[in-house]
Amino acid sequence: MNIGFIGLGRMGLSLARSLVSKGETVCVFDLNAEAVSTLESEGAQGARNVAELCRNADIVFTMLPGPKQVNAVALGADGIIENLRPGSIYIDMSTIDVDTVDALHQAFSEKGIAFGDAPVGRLAMHADRGESLFMLGIDEQYVAKVEPVLYKMGTTVYHCGKAGNGTRTKLINNMMVLSYCQINSEALVLAQALGLDLNNTFNVLTSTTASNGQLKEKWPNKVLKGDLSPGFDLALGYKDISLASNAGASSQVALPVCDTTRNVFRLALASGKAGQDTSSITDFWAELNNCPKPRLN
Ligand code: NAD
Repeated sequence: MNIGFIGLGRMGLSLARSLVSKGETVCVFDLNAEAVSTLESEGAQGARNVAELCRNADIVFTMLPGPKQVNAVALGADGIIENLRPGSIYIDMSTIDVDTVDALHQAFSEKGIAFGDAPVGRLAMHADRGESLFMLGIDEQYVAKVEPVLYKMGTTVYHCGKAGNGTRTKLINNMMVLSYCQINSEALVLAQALGLDLNNTFNVLTSTTASNGQLKEKWPNKVLKGDLSPGFDLALGYKDISLASNAGASSQVALPVCDTTRNVFRLALASGKAGQDTSSITDFWAELNNCPKPRLN
């Protein structure tokens, strides 16, 4: 299959690179020409715009920041819908909202293009290693075509049902992931304030049922060693927790922990934390409480 891949940021670059490294024919596009050149030098074909990328594609993936960019690239003037031929497949992997994904499904189906969503689970470091998880939403008849391509970018695919169900699953997943940012931060800042040895406390917390993937896998590799560079940008985290909060509001489901986390993220952004990793919420919480920033030795 000729594969098109749009959006070569922190996640998309690694996912597209996995396809290229496994010998797939991949055409790539991003507004950032440097990212396109990087993959060209590794064997991908670079496109100058979305139309050029779609010309020979059998399947197109997008991995963009959020609903606004996905709408522009998929449905905007000279977007995917205008240029991808009927009979081909379009899969969005970005984290977007329920209304947007359902509107994409309808618009592409009307054009005879199969549409699916496959948002990505696990951390950026897993994407770097080709170990991502995909929450695939697409009609059963297309699963056999799409799954093998996803397995070239990751290790795990869950078929969540029809198009749109990948996004719905992802919103719930990230609501939990991001709520742990706040829970971890409160626990670690309190541990410092109580004068505990942080290395010892960390070992305890990651060896009992208090453990969570964020604390165990991400925290020691990011904020707890002072690395605040974005694996997952706090601004994107705020977008995702807001998408979950909004989904709760429209479904009339109360989400008190989610909504509190959303507000803490909002305050962190207002204090200038955009561009830092979501785990930097722990430093923000320490600053607010006038406590030292928790670090492992
Ligand atoms: P990013 O901001 O690093 O990358 C986004 C890329 O999209 C950038 O390279 C940007 O230039 C490009 N782009 C934006 N508008 C464009 C347009 N109109 N045309 C072409 N390219 C355009 O974001 P990321 O961290 O790679 O995340 C991408 C998506 O994946 C988001 O929805 C995010 O929520 C989700 N996600 C992120 C992680 C993570 O750990 N970073 C994990 C899973 C899912």
